[in-house]
Amino acid sequence: MSRERYVVTVIGAGPRGTSVLERLLARLEADRRDRELSPHDGEPRAEGSAASTPARLAIQIVEPYRPGSGHVWSSAQSRLFLMNTPAMYPTVAPPREGDGPGLTFEQWRGLGGDGAVLAPVEQRELADLGPGDYPSRALYGRYLEHVHDAVVARLSAHPDVESVEHLRASSVGIERRSADYRIELTAHDDAVRTSRGRIAPTAGLSDRRPGAAGVDSHVPEAVASDAVVLAVGHVPAELNPRQAAAGRRAEELGLTYQGPNVPSDVDWAAFPGGEPLLVRGLGLNFFDALAQLTTARGGDFVPTGAGPGRALDYRRSGREPKIFAASRRGAPYRAKAEVPAFVPPSVELVYLTFERVHALAAAGAPGEPRGKVGFDAHIWPLLHRDVLRTYYRVAARVAPERFRDVDEFLARLDVLLDAQIHPEQNVQGTPVHGQEVWRSQVADLVDDMAPEVGWLDVPALGAPFAKRGFTSADAYQQAVLEYLEADAAGSAAGEDDPLKMAIGALHAGRLLTKRLVAESLIDEVSRTDEVQKWFEPLVEGAASGPPLRRIEELAALARAGVVTFLGPDPVFTLDDEGEYSGVFTASSRWVDAPPVTAHHMLEAMMPANRVAQTASPLLKRLQSDGLARPIPIPTEDGETVPGPGFDVVGTPYRLVDASGIAHRSIFVLGLQLSGVQWGTAIAAEAGGSYDDGARTLADADAVAVELLRLAR
Ligand SMILES: Cc1cc2nc3c(=O)[nH]c(=O)nc-3n(C[C@H](O)[C@H](O)[C@H](O)COP(=O)(O)OP(=O)(O)OC[C@H]3O[C@@H](n4cnc5c(N)ncnc54)[C@H](O)[C@@H]3O)c2cc1C
Repeated sequence: MSRERYVVTVIGAGPRGTSVLERLLARLEADRRDRELSPHDGEPRAEGSAASTPARLAIQIVEPYRPGSGHVWSSAQSRLFLMNTPAMYPTVAPPREGDGPGLTFEQWRGLGGDGAVLAPVEQRELADLGPGDYPSRALYGRYLEHVHDAVVARLSAHPDVESVEHLRASSVGIERRSADYRIELTAHDDAVRTSRGRIAPTAGLSDRRPGAAGVDSHVPEAVASDAVVLAVGHVPAELNPRQAAAGRRAEELGLTYQGPNVPSDVDWAAFPGGEPLLVRGLGLNFFDALAQLTTARGGDFVPTGAGPGRALDYRRSGREPKIFAASRRGAPYRAKAEVPAFVPPSVELVYLTFERVHALAAAGAPGEPRGKVGFDAHIWPLLHRDVLRTYYRVAARVAPERFRDVDEFLARLDVLLDAQIHPEQNVQGTPVHGQEVWRSQVADLVDDMAPEVGWLDVPALGAPFAKRGFTSADAYQQAVLEYLEADAAGSAAGEDDPLKMAIGALHAGRLLTKRLVAESLIDEVSRTDEVQKWFEPLVEGAASGPPLRRIEELAALARAGVVTFLGPDPVFTLDDEGEYSGVFTASSRWVDAPPVTAHHMLEAMMPANRVAQTASPLLKRLQSDGLARPIPIPTEDGETVPGPGFDVVGTPYRLVDASGIAHRSIFVLGLQLSGVQWGTAIAAEAGGSYDDGARTLADADAVAVELLRLAR
């Protein structure tokens, strides 16, 4: 018996939830066109199109914040928070064609907002923005809201849609019933805020416009639904034991401890001007923190007219804290290169290709089950070749005089890199011997023909100060400043900088590795022990950094004495005894300087993305009620441990319950897929292919197709 009505509930209307709605609209419109063009022709139809008239859809959107931008992308947050992807990159939908739905951020920019009524500040930002510039997160949020509103308006008018309703609420539980699900709601935004790590007095959400965050007293206690899409994204996490202990003790002592959090949820006023503030983490959250603690307090960056690395001076407001910052690497993330694309156009991977890895997996890679490869054994050697090839080719182009005979060097380099990659030497049944000898041979070649250029130690990029001791705090500060200045100069040189282009190749390899993970070609043990353990931090620090401007600002702040770097492998303490009892301290064994003490400490990082550590009431309940479980991940010893994301199966990804059985109609998108995908916390790439950059849109599309199939 065919249904008359099918209820779909999308929980979470940030980018991923919005993508599902947009894909649903695109599929419904395509279906309708098909039916109008050939109502009775009985011809086979395109994948996902209507084979019979669907039930009318009733769509419920559960989101306590403004749908579209949701929690992370509030269009009312501080405009000092910048994206770390350029305007040309991110999208929530495929490019718009004709009068279809879809609209990339770059198209929206080109259309001057596509008819959205923009505030003057938004109009100004949009007008000033170029495709290679880095938008404020607030502006990207405005785009997300625009797409969401346009999609909902069109969905509501569609004849196959009965209703689209926004429930301004959080879901706190799902109950499985014989024919459908019951979704429990609360009109309270605590259920989604990531402020759990905060021990200091209550944080204020920056988005306080009426109706911006959700407290709606008319929300029902529960709603029924045939299908559920879980697109809950960045959810709160419990502190790890070390953080929790620091937080508890700090509270007892009247100190301020800010745990990991989304920067727009942090109460920056808790850090008083003039007082020392210890910061752990030199990644993207660190740059957000700097903006809030300096520019937002009236400080100013003034152009100096000097070259990259010294392009800005900082004029203090006097209200900045004294910032002492450190991370394990000892150095901040590197600036993005100034290039007109997400991957530098001149970068090409010739060794690491999808086809090569696929062929190897199909033939059986040594030491792996058939159909799988290992990252260290099979992927890294190819990517390493590409990184070195890129580095020395760019160096040869921009500074041939640094080579003894540049043409001969390049010819010999190619011969060495080409050796030992032939598939027949790498397949099962063939003993593996000497596969890595090429590295020493290339190093010898460089020693011999380009000693001035030197060997590029790629893994060492992840720890630029490793094993170097500094005899004073000043010596270390000076070393980091020089590092920042060189980094800025490299970024400004764009495609003419060998190191930045080598990092570009590393980044391109990361994107391909994401695809290989999503297509299950990488052995799971290798993925956990190799990709996530060493490759991820290396590539994050090198290729996921902020725009150049942020590094210029940091260098200016360091020169002005507002930011002091503490050293690699820092140790933070809050002890009850001894000389430093009752205060936070931070020191590094690589820098000969007394510990810095402070009453305030900030963890400049995001909450952990692990479903087993979640503080989201919904995700906790799903697990305690047996409706969901962490994905089991095999270890080297053949045991299994709980993985970071939910256990899911198939495409689209269906949630698997505690007994191992897949739900008929609960679908998972985004961060909670981190057990089967790698690098889930990034927008889709505008115009990217469904296999690569736009995989999140492919995931949303697969959910839309399946929902329409179920609705028949
Ligand atoms: C601070 C920050 C900066 C970033 N910058 C960039 C960038 O510059 N470029 C880039 O490509 N990527 C960036 N990202 C990555 C980001 O993960 C994605 O771009 C995107 O936000 C993921 O979308 P999502 O819908 O999966 O998750 P989210 O954006 O987190 O949206 C999920 C939504 O679900 C809602 N929700 C959660 N739980 C519930 C519940 N129980 N009931 C109802 N609703 C719920 C939340 O309120 C939220 O609105 C950034 C992420 C963060 C956190």
